[in-house]
Amino acid sequence: MSYFRVSETCNGCLACVQNCPARALDARDEGDRRILLHNMARCARCGTCWRVCPQHAVEFQHILVSSWDEVVVLPLLRCEICGEAVHTARLPAGLEPRLSELAPPLCDRHRAARRAAQLRVPAGGAS
Ligand code: SF4
Ligand code: SF4
Repeated sequence: MSYFRVSETCNGCLACVQNCPARALDARDEGDRRILLHNMARCARCGTCWRVCPQHAVEFQHILVSSWDEVVVLPLLRCEICGEAVHTARLPAGLEPRLSELAPPLCDRHRAARRAAQLRVPAGGAS
């Protein structure tokens, strides 16, 4: 996702490119098209492009937005007793030897409680 946005009033004058102190803007002329490029990793968010643009085309407010972007969404398994998040459904796939410990999903508290209850069961199982 690009946070640097330019409106349709841009006329391609390149004032923003020429005045960007961080060299975060560039342009490429390809055939009958001029393409304006922005590199967010270089951008200092200084606002110079916004100030020098004669068309008021740089929508600088988007660069200043502080937001968290979802990068991955995974199915989550919750403790079957209290509902506390335990681990993602994908996690056990890489932990085959510990699979029996992880299933069924229990939070630390309820896993410990279940272990303690199992230890109390006399040899031969519960009657
Ligand atoms: S905010 Fe500053 S560093 Fe970023 S593109 Fe505009 S002029 Fe360049
Ligand atoms: S200064 Fe404004 S009008 Fe000129 S190229 Fe940059 S965004 Fe477009």
